[in-house]
Amino acid sequence: GLANRLQDTFNRLRGKGKLGESDVKEAMREVRLALLEADVNFKVVKDFVEKVRERAVGQEVLQSLTPGQHVIKIVNEELTALMGGEQAKLAVTKPPTVIMMVGLQGAGKTTHVGKLARLLQKERKKPLLVAGDIYRPAAIKQLQVLGEQLDAEVFSLGDQVSPVEIAKQALHHATIHGHDYVLIDTAGRLHIDEQLMDELQRVKSEVNPDEILLVVDAMTGQDAVNVAQSFHSQLAVTGAILTKLDGDTRGGAALSIRAVTGIPIKYAGIGEKIDAIEPFHPDRMASRILGMGDVLTLIEKAQANIDKDKAMEMERKLRNADFTLDDFLDQLQQVKQLGPLDQLLGMMPGMNKAMKGLQNANVDEKQIGRVEAIIRSMTPIERIEPKVIDSSRRKRIAKGSGTTVQDVNRLLKQFEEMQKMMKQFSGMAKKMKKGKKGK
Ligand code: GDP
Ligand code: MG
Repeated sequence: GLANRLQDTFNRLRGKGKLGESDVKEAMREVRLALLEADVNFKVVKDFVEKVRERAVGQEVLQSLTPGQHVIKIVNEELTALMGGEQAKLAVTKPPTVIMMVGLQGAGKTTHVGKLARLLQKERKKPLLVAGDIYRPAAIKQLQVLGEQLDAEVFSLGDQVSPVEIAKQALHHATIHGHDYVLIDTAGRLHIDEQLMDELQRVKSEVNPDEILLVVDAMTGQDAVNVAQSFHSQLAVTGAILTKLDGDTRGGAALSIRAVTGIPIKYAGIGEKIDAIEPFHPDRMASRILGMGDVLTLIEKAQANIDKDKAMEMERKLRNADFTLDDFLDQLQQVKQLGPLDQLLGMMPGMNKAMKGLQNANVDEKQIGRVEAIIRSMTPIERIEPKVIDSSRRKRIAKGSGTTVQDVNRLLKQFEEMQKMMKQFSGMAKKMKKGKKGK
């Protein structure tokens, strides 16, 4: 992937005392290849590489940085700029603020109406979810289920009334009932067609939305840019939500959409659950692409719940794989406040790959309480050295925690798998640091 390639390149640079023009050249060739491989628009790559090259060669290396770090800093800054620089926020208007979601079928429109509603509820706003997709079977039901889950009102007129009329009446309803936001779900198609665009344009002219958010699947790479361009030229989109960034995306979409179309990316979708959404931070995305992990997002998410030192310490432990059951317990407690464990781990540097295995281990949030009880019933030595836990100890722990021996076995197995994965990961990282050249 892009992150790995860049990391490889930069690890090579890191060992250098001084950085000559040829080093910059070589590094830039790697960066260019990596970006092209990640499906970034050709012209974007060309401009980008040129800009970085100019800056890298022309500038004196900062005293506090090694030449390699200096190049990383420049690449990072330019990647950030490429993705829009500042975080782009939602328009602030007199309520109700009308937001229309558009995009191809399966991009995540309906899901993100729900996620956005949830974010707004957290800000004590009252959203109205509007069922404007009358074509896809079960689309209305899907939104109603989300509405129930959120305890948010869903406006539907069934599938026999036109989307234009639905949007119009929904806006009226929201005005009367004091909703702060009107979130209009719309139909998508597998491909852009005139009929769809025509209908979306009519909805747009009927309700005059404050935001038209294009929902794009990040996994579609270069295609996402073409899709964005089409929607933008016909609807004058005001922002994008980049979905499925939790998957094994090549990241090309995030890099190109803003640069090619000028559409600011406002949110990132990072999972199927209702809270799997984040404001899009170009600088953090740049770091993520560079393989440094999104530690900042992790820290912000934790806010008052977890202090920075602890997060750093945790990250260090994960890197070094000296992670004990005590740390596991500590983490579980924080996870309860932070959100799903898979998301949390996904933000740790390099953990995206390792997560594949974790999902199989299936750490169910509902079981956290039981896991806590089990670990608390262990002695300090058992927590550091689980190998000593023989069958009589297992029985004692099960009894002490009010669980069964099978529960204890399962936890130990999961923990062992997690540790194995971390060892593998940190082994890989160490090899890379030694400057191993293989790809
Ligand atoms: P729509 O046709 O644009 O309304 O798309 P949906 O909202 O129905 O979503 C299509 C599928 O993508 C569903 O299975 C969602 O659960 C899934 N999905 C949506 N957003 C995300 C995301 O950010 N990450 C992942 N992994 N799946 C997502
Ligand atoms: Mg839908």
